[in-house]
Amino acid sequence: MNALGRMEIRAAMLSDLLDAGGAPALLNDPNRPLLASMIAGQAAGQGCLPAHLGLGPARFSELLARLFPGTPVFLVRREIEEIPELDDLRKLLLDHRAHPGVSAEWMADIVATACAGRDHLWQDLGLANRDELSRLMRLNFKPLADQNVGDMKWKKFLYKQFCAAEGIYVCPAPSCGECADHPKCFGPET
Ligand code: SF4
Repeated sequence: MNALGRMEIRAAMLSDLLDAGGAPALLNDPNRPLLASMIAGQAAGQGCLPAHLGLGPARFSELLARLFPGTPVFLVRREIEEIPELDDLRKLLLDHRAHPGVSAEWMADIVATACAGRDHLWQDLGLANRDELSRLMRLNFKPLADQNVGDMKWKKFLYKQFCAAEGIYVCPAPSCGECADHPKCFGPET
């Protein structure tokens, strides 16, 4: 499939998802358009997430039923490597959750799963752009997102937080300002 085809599938799926009915409280959930973007991206073959986004089939079905009832969703079947740090990344996110809603739990699982990808985290998640990921992080994990004061690349930032919590120090320099790897951690995510 070429890039134009992917964009057409993405746009059609996104429109169908956002047009789905449902209870007003769920329609206004600010995570709804972000989840719709990830699902549309997965349907278009973007990102690295499996067809249940890392939630497992039962929880993903629950998500669809609650946020996008009645919308036919056809996702790309694919496997994703289960990384050994998956549970720790999930815990890091949940320890900093900004609200008690189930959508923060979904997001923690999905974001941790996407860390297995090889691209920038917003791309691995199948989102449309980095701004959507920044919004996701502030919306669901604000105490953690607020610590990213230098606007570090999100995947680098999560791993740096995880390593610091585990007492692992892998950075080659004592501070970011004097580090030769600075562009790798803070450069544009495009
Ligand atoms: S810029 Fe260097 S010191 Fe800062 S997080 Fe990246 S690797 Fe570590």
